[in-house]
Amino acid sequence: MELYSGHINKLIEQLAALPGIGEKSAGRLAFYIVNMPKDRVEKLARVLIEAKENIKYCKHCFTLTDDETCPICRNEKRDHHTIMVVENPRDLAAYEKTGKYNGVYHVLHGCISPMLGIGPGDIKLKELMKRLEGDVQEVIIATNSSLEGETTAMYISKLVKPTGIKVTRIASGVPVGGDLENIDEVTLLRALDGRVEL
Ligand code: ZN
Repeated sequence: MELYSGHINKLIEQLAALPGIGEKSAGRLAFYIVNMPKDRVEKLARVLIEAKENIKYCKHCFTLTDDETCPICRNEKRDHHTIMVVENPRDLAAYEKTGKYNGVYHVLHGCISPMLGIGPGDIKLKELMKRLEGDVQEVIIATNSSLEGETTAMYISKLVKPTGIKVTRIASGVPVGGDLENIDEVTLLRALDGRVEL
């Protein structure tokens, strides 16, 4: 028996497909949305579509941005010879929030995971290697300390080493399996300061 109308079911289904939202939360959100004034629902729908249509990858570091190049890559005061490699834009934001890192970034958009069938070709690794053809002095690998993050770090270090560019890995102290974005600033900075050469 269908408990709700087809439209409500469709809405719940779409919301439940989002990460971190279970069936129950999806139901709660769906009913909340249905009861919202029509202009707010229209605004929400518009913002979703506008975000999707207008947000692009920075052509240098591949973080999400509204322009061709992100504000960090555009900033001439930053040290463009030091590249910190992170898994996603949220990890970049975590390090940016500390305000203590002055280099630039490279966003992989994922990490190597044989379990999930994600290989080196599925993340922005080729793009990283291309950047290293320029004048780069250090690559700081700041992938998470999960199994996938470590695998990715090893892989990158093997790729970068033959170029002669210094490769470092942020220190552990970041809990295993911990997402960088959930870690406090002090721990992030300690991990950065204590980075070791690979
Ligand atoms: Zn950028």
